[in-house]
Amino acid sequence: MTGMVTSTSLFSPIVEGLIPYVPGEQPRIDGLVKLNTNENPYPPSPNVVAAITSAAMDGLQLYPDPESRALRRTVAAHHGLDISQVFVGNGSDEVLAHAFFTFFQHGTPLLMPDVTYSFYRVYCGLYGIPFEVVPLAVDLGIRVGAFEPYLQRDVAGIVIANPNAPTGIGLPITEIEKLVQMLPHRVVLVDEAYVDFGGQTAMGLVAKYSNLLVVHTLSKSRSLAGLRIGFACGQTPLIEALDRVKNSFNSYPLDRLAIAGGVAAFEDQDYFEKCCAAIVHTREGMVLQLEERGFEVLPSQANFVFARHPAQDAGRLAKGLRERAVLVRHFELPRIDQYLRISVGTPAQCDALIHALDDMLSIL
Ligand SMILES: *Cc1c(COP(=O)(O)O)cnc(C)c1O
Repeated sequence: MTGMVTSTSLFSPIVEGLIPYVPGEQPRIDGLVKLNTNENPYPPSPNVVAAITSAAMDGLQLYPDPESRALRRTVAAHHGLDISQVFVGNGSDEVLAHAFFTFFQHGTPLLMPDVTYSFYRVYCGLYGIPFEVVPLAVDLGIRVGAFEPYLQRDVAGIVIANPNAPTGIGLPITEIEKLVQMLPHRVVLVDEAYVDFGGQTAMGLVAKYSNLLVVHTLSKSRSLAGLRIGFACGQTPLIEALDRVKNSFNSYPLDRLAIAGGVAAFEDQDYFEKCCAAIVHTREGMVLQLEERGFEVLPSQANFVFARHPAQDAGRLAKGLRERAVLVRHFELPRIDQYLRISVGTPAQCDALIHALDDMLSIL
């Protein structure tokens, strides 16, 4: 035997205890009504498909622009920022992963709400970042004041989703600004994956606060979950730090097709607005129909609703819906295990959901 053996495992020690994120299932079953992963029910703009097709015929043998400048320029213009204030990645999950690595490894706890996007805990596990959870109020809303007592000690930063996932509840921009002001020497990350469905964006605060990072995705409101594009906006030093990490990991996170498709998605503003408006309209109808059937529905600013039935077990409802070819998401987690998260689909998909519920509730 050569060399000194310190462990008998083939794996790095951190992998032994790693608990990965579990995405909503993606079964390929004909006729299935998929309301479980918050995808957009509408296809992307036809211009996106045209741009991807054209990019596919032009230069796939060459690496893409490592800096994705065309896309960053487009995103920057859209949000009134400079290109140096925009970072792009292979889905916002990758952007979040780089942000956690870049900003939150201080050996002190990262603060996040007790109910939020469960990937945040996974990144903490991956990078060994300790975290503390700040409880939501009884109405399942985030209270900025609830973070205050946790700031008596040094913390690594704050991460929130706004609107929050999976509650769909949004905070007004004035509250986000208070949060950013409460922790000036650490990064406050606001994940706005669902903001285009009625939330208030913090993009306008980027110019004012050096510690704010706002993360967006093209997966939800721009119908591009299959293309994998996300981005972060913040002041230039934050973006430069993210770039250093990204360039130590993967020089080309966005391929040529993604860059071309992403640019085209932003250029078709009219299509984007119409899709978002349709989803918000369908959501409002869906909320009423669920309430008529006795559901309590949290006020949603997202492309999903979070609802519970006071007399029916959520796990049984999810199972019954599945038997009727309707998929929704049920989290077996503290505080929310009696809720269903239901993505807003097309009007026809929402009708299918309501019919399946009526069928079940009539026999339960
Ligand atoms: C969907 C979602 C993401 C991930 O988006 P991708 O760009 O598809 O990786 C990030 N944060 C929240 C809160 C989400 O719901």
